Amino acid sequence: MVYLMIVIIVVVMIIILIKTAVKPNRQSLDQTEMTQTGKPVILLIVDSLMNEPLQQAVKKDRAPALQFLMEHGRLYPDVVSSYPTMSVTIDSTLLTGTYSDKHRVPGLVWYDENEKRLVNYGSAREEVFKLGVKQVAEDNLYKLNHKHLHRDVKTIHETLADAGQQSASINALVYRGNEKKTLHIPEVAAKLKLAPETLHIKTPALFSYGMLSQFSPKNDQHIGPFEKFGFNDAFSAQELKHLIQNDKLPAFTIAYFPELDQEVHKNGPKEHIDAIAKTDKQVQEVLNTYESWDEALNSAIWIVMGDSGQAEVGNDKNQSLIRLKDMLDDYNIYKVTEQVKKDDQIVLGHNERMAFIYILDEAIRQEEVVKKLQKDERIGFLAWKDGADVHVVANGHKEIFTFRPDGPYRDSYGQTWTIKGDPSVLDMTVHGDVIEYKTYPDALARLHSSLHSHSGTYIIADAKPGFEFQGEGTPIHLGGAAHGALHEQDTMVPVIVTGTDTKPRHMRIVDLYAWMIDLTKNR
Ligand SMILES: [Zn+2]
Repeated sequence: MVYLMIVIIVVVMIIILIKTAVKPNRQSLDQTEMTQTGKPVILLIVDSLMNEPLQQAVKKDRAPALQFLMEHGRLYPDVVSSYPTMSVTIDSTLLTGTYSDKHRVPGLVWYDENEKRLVNYGSAREEVFKLGVKQVAEDNLYKLNHKHLHRDVKTIHETLADAGQQSASINALVYRGNEKKTLHIPEVAAKLKLAPETLHIKTPALFSYGMLSQFSPKNDQHIGPFEKFGFNDAFSAQELKHLIQNDKLPAFTIAYFPELDQEVHKNGPKEHIDAIAKTDKQVQEVLNTYESWDEALNSAIWIVMGDSGQAEVGNDKNQSLIRLKDMLDDYNIYKVTEQVKKDDQIVLGHNERMAFIYILDEAIRQEEVVKKLQKDERIGFLAWKDGADVHVVANGHKEIFTFRPDGPYRDSYGQTWTIKGDPSVLDMTVHGDVIEYKTYPDALARLHSSLHSHSGTYIIADAKPGFEFQGEGTPIHLGGAAHGALHEQDTMVPVIVTGTDTKPRHMRIVDLYAWMIDLTKNR
């Protein structure tokens, strides 16, 4: 009993210590001059929002705010995400209108050949711990936006600023803009050498980023260590409300709602109506800022979208998790806890249901590694680059499929290709010179982009629904769900739009950029 008391007292003291250490970095809105003309565009990104569960939630009257927006606008239920279907890569596509061959953010986890290290923007506590908190913090806070996201592409914030339009970013991981800003890292973190004391970054005119940058004083209660330091839905909703209430909404605002993703991971793609209801509550909060929801509709153009879907992961520890390390145990595989060593032959970059397999040893042929992995029927396909060609193989298919951009075949997005071999490897059909995608939407462009997203010799492994790759300390979701793969279950997201009849050129996230810029400029 006494021990229990002591433990409780110590825990409470630690909590108080951490709480007092977490000080808000509050920004004032006073200096921000708004040049408001038409209706502002407000984009809400709900991580892992999927159409089917959304429909169910609406049917059960659990999502009144999203239902209201849908009924007074349009719903596009099947918009194609980018690849791999991981938030940082998708957000980079959404913000730049390019796939990863141009924006150069290959995935959540990837191997940087020049720096000879695994880049990880923070996939799981254990993995972060193994790679070092400092490194992950730097990759996430700074390098993602200012080093990895390619300089040759312009984010929507940069493009709008060039056109004299202001924008806001609330809790989005990808945020690069035109304005210089200094982030002050909490003293504790700096003292523990987890991060530098200050970071010089470039952001849109209005920038909100958890405890590191916030506008609303009411958010002081949402930035503690148990609230993920502000990376939560309530924080995002409150920041947005604050901009609306103070009449400071810029021409374009992105607000990111991270929580649904975690619930879908835990409960699976079908059983998370409660989680959607919870997110909807935050959207209601935002709409309630106006005199009425009709007033909210009249005052702004609303876009609500998911970023990726998720596919079920079985609950059999041995069957549902694909351990590439075990399958490639003939080779020396890099250990994430150590530096890359001279005799390391292979590095694995796990992105849940997708994996990059890097070959460091020039003596190993890609085909040799592919052959070993192709035996596993849980892997949907394997792809690699060979000059200008991309080769794809799948378990159960004898023939290889080869493609490259430009050529006599055309897909529904107007992209042309040269193809050879068995297109059913990627579940495509070809009629005359027309390519039709089925299980893997926009397969060729997305796969090609990922194989050209960074330097190095690497193979892509993509899991079938029901399975997930497991690495050292990577998060696993037995009996839940995961994403990352090219499969339609990981790929299709709903987009709700109000206040305009215009629509993107194609129903893909990569096509939203040009459309949103036009929408903002022509309000
Ligand atoms: Zn996720």
